[in-house]
Amino acid sequence: MDKRKCKKCDTEFNVDENDHIFYERIGVPTPTFCPVCRNQQRMLFRNFKTLYKRPSSKSGKMIISMYNPDVPFPVWDISEWWADDWDAISYAIDLDLSIPFIKQLGELSDKTPRYSMMNTKSNNCEYSNMTYGANNCYLVFGCVENENCDYGHIVWYSRDCTDNLYVRKSELCYECVDCLESNKLLYSQECESCVDSIGLYDCRGCVNCIGCVGLRQQSYNIFNKQVSKEEYQEFLTKHPISDEASVIYILNKKEELRKKMPARAMFGSHNENVSGDHIYNAHNIEQCFDVKGGENSRYCYTSGNLIESYDISFNPDVQYSYQLLASMRSTNLISCHLVTDSSYSYFSDACINIKNCFGCCGLRNKEYCILNKQYTKAEYEKLVPQIIENMNKSGDWGNFFPVWMSPFAYNESIANEYMPLKKEEAIALGFRWRDDIPHTKGQENCEYKDLPKNSEEYKDENLLNKILKCESCGNNYKFISREIAFYKRIKLAIPTKCFNCRHQERMNKRNPRILNEVNCASCGNITKTTYPKEKHNQYRIYCEDCYKKEIN
Ligand SMILES: [Zn+2]
Ligand SMILES: [Zn+2]
Ligand SMILES: [Zn+2]
Repeated sequence: MDKRKCKKCDTEFNVDENDHIFYERIGVPTPTFCPVCRNQQRMLFRNFKTLYKRPSSKSGKMIISMYNPDVPFPVWDISEWWADDWDAISYAIDLDLSIPFIKQLGELSDKTPRYSMMNTKSNNCEYSNMTYGANNCYLVFGCVENENCDYGHIVWYSRDCTDNLYVRKSELCYECVDCLESNKLLYSQECESCVDSIGLYDCRGCVNCIGCVGLRQQSYNIFNKQVSKEEYQEFLTKHPISDEASVIYILNKKEELRKKMPARAMFGSHNENVSGDHIYNAHNIEQCFDVKGGENSRYCYTSGNLIESYDISFNPDVQYSYQLLASMRSTNLISCHLVTDSSYSYFSDACINIKNCFGCCGLRNKEYCILNKQYTKAEYEKLVPQIIENMNKSGDWGNFFPVWMSPFAYNESIANEYMPLKKEEAIALGFRWRDDIPHTKGQENCEYKDLPKNSEEYKDENLLNKILKCESCGNNYKFISREIAFYKRIKLAIPTKCFNCRHQERMNKRNPRILNEVNCASCGNITKTTYPKEKHNQYRIYCEDCYKKEIN
């Protein structure tokens, strides 16, 4: 076991025998940055929700785009980018091995057109980004096969859900984090198959429960105590959730309870030999987070069906790959972004169905290309080892695209959602920062206290024209019609904060994706957990075996 010190954050990280085997097999040097800094660098290239109105660089029509109008490269409307009337090969650059390869790649990247948003097979989702097969979704980022969902991040296969984070296969959920297969579940976290419930944590198969923790297959429980149906109704009459004070009361009581109950060190199931959090159906997975399906992989985030891959963020179905962001159905890729249905390619961006390509941008259905230029197989195979040698010398081989190539400032990218930094901290770490993130201020035309309190009065004519001031950041926010109908249907209080603040509060409910060692509060054995060290005394953190003995 080698101990290394991260060149960016000074944290110690381990490089063990399996790591060395992996790096040697794919032919990259051992990393100089720790896994957390490596993921941070990849996330800097992903912008979900900082959206701009700008003209398409092709047609001039006004579009919604994740790229600020001042980025160097042309930004085209999605349909213009996907049209067959152009080929990115026409932007090719002649390889010059006397200058750093990454510099030439930057040049190509600065002139090749990009699509404005990453939305595929979706309808009426123009204010959402990274959607696939979705209908009528507003401000949902990372949105797969949803219908009528608003305000969320990683909401998949769901209907009529508002304000959620990491929610799958659910309906009518509100303010849920890491919940699955639930219906009309509100203000809950880490729950599965729960119905008509409020403020639950780590519950499964519960119906009509309020403020409970660690329950299985229960109904009519309030703060983990069995009540009658009448008592339950009485509680809701006394504490209606249309009153924000009731929600705060329930969540505070639930939090007290959470501190008394066994806290699961990591969430997941059907695993063998794994470490991380939110891991399902996996074996031999280390330091992975939000991974569904995988084997022999490490340092992967929000991905699925992984085989022998390291350093993967937001990629389903990849094998034998390293340092990928948002690429899918691909094999043997190194340092690629938005590359799909591809193989044996390196340092490429926004390419589809490529094979044996190096440093390409926007290509479709190509083989043996370097910097978008077509070569013969023999030429390609002769040049690639020389490029790798060039990149090894400059220290770029084995890393993701360098920070300077990201089209996003730190606070435009999702890096700032998962690892929030202050402006000064981001700049000290070498990231850019934007002071002009789109927002409105000072346009409010009413005060929150003047809004209707009775959900029966939530109507478009009362609320659609209202502009409010967020009680947290002071920016303006307003409502859409479907959202108003949702609050009315569930009888919820109208939010006092803007979408960005609501989203960040949900993000903050999740533990950071960093592992710490803790002594199990039951058996004393050392186990790994995402609970940060300062919280180890607040919760009774149990290892998986002890947790299963006590909870299920
Ligand atoms: Zn680091
Ligand atoms: Zn706000
Ligand atoms: Zn234990």
